[in-house]
Amino acid sequence: MTEFELIQTYFTRPKPGLSRATLGVGDDCALLHPPRPGMQWAVSCDMLVAGQHFFEDVSPQLLGHKALAVNLSDLAACGAKPVAFFLALALPQADETFLQGFSTGLHALADEFECELLGGDTTRGPLNICITVMGEVPQGQALLRSGAQVGDDVYVSGKLGDASLALAALRGEPGVQLGAQALAELRPALEQPQPRVALGRALRGLVHSAIDISDGLLSDLGHLLQRSQVGARVQLDALPCSTHLRQQAPQLQQRCLLAGGDDYELLFTAAPSQAAAVQAAAHQTGVPVTRIGCAQAGLQIWDLQNQIPSTNFCGFDHFAG
Ligand code: ADP
Ligand code: MG
Repeated sequence: MTEFELIQTYFTRPKPGLSRATLGVGDDCALLHPPRPGMQWAVSCDMLVAGQHFFEDVSPQLLGHKALAVNLSDLAACGAKPVAFFLALALPQADETFLQGFSTGLHALADEFECELLGGDTTRGPLNICITVMGEVPQGQALLRSGAQVGDDVYVSGKLGDASLALAALRGEPGVQLGAQALAELRPALEQPQPRVALGRALRGLVHSAIDISDGLLSDLGHLLQRSQVGARVQLDALPCSTHLRQQAPQLQQRCLLAGGDDYELLFTAAPSQAAAVQAAAHQTGVPVTRIGCAQAGLQIWDLQNQIPSTNFCGFDHFAG
């Protein structure tokens, strides 16, 4: 199969009725309409590298889903509505079984969020997937990392730590207490994250700051606080946690909750006066949100006994150490 046939077969799709482009895949450039009046583009780019972000033998369909999901999660964190994406793909070979599965998972999620594939690049090389996603958000209303204020409540969506617990189990890490059934229940958290797009949009105008948790709560909370020039006090026991994770040894449980990574939940801060509106947004979008602490002068993590956990955790950093 030639490169052209590959693009034609797996990545060229009929133009949707409400396309935001006059020209998509096939020419040197895609041609997009300007943003609608009063809106601005929110654009983000995320790369997934085999061995680094996923196991080489992961199901291609799940990989296609996750590659787009992690990008949509960035749009969610900005409160943007997905519009279009571009796919740069390096493949060791044109394996049709892989391409069929990968494109199926990718297009299924794209269709769910009405996000149109408008172009990309395809080259031979170690498996590497880079997606650039475009969304739209009302002018000046994007949720930013930088708006947290002292006194804000700090919230997270969903549950934390399940993805990293599943990863620890799949890696055969010692000390993971997880049966086959429990692992099967946790794998979707790792392999099929659900981008919180509806929640992010519903939080526009309600919250002071937001970020998506991709590298672990502490790391991403740290980014938000640093951009906002505030600290926070987080109650460890308040972190939303599955029963499977709660059954693990405290050390592993804390590591997964605080520094796990791959959660793709939203972390945000809002004035206490918005508490009811935040819960209404959660209810309306079907995604639970939990208050985990409050913004203050310095960063502190407390457990039930009002003690700081013995271990210092840090989130995932590709270039640390
Ligand atoms: P060029 O050589 O000018 O970069 P390409 O031959 O790489 O063009 O790509 C041809 C067309 O196919 C372009 O419109 C490009 O956006 C699109 N394309 C290439 N790879 C992909 C891909 N993986 N997914 C979607 N569109 C792609
Ligand atoms: Mg090219």
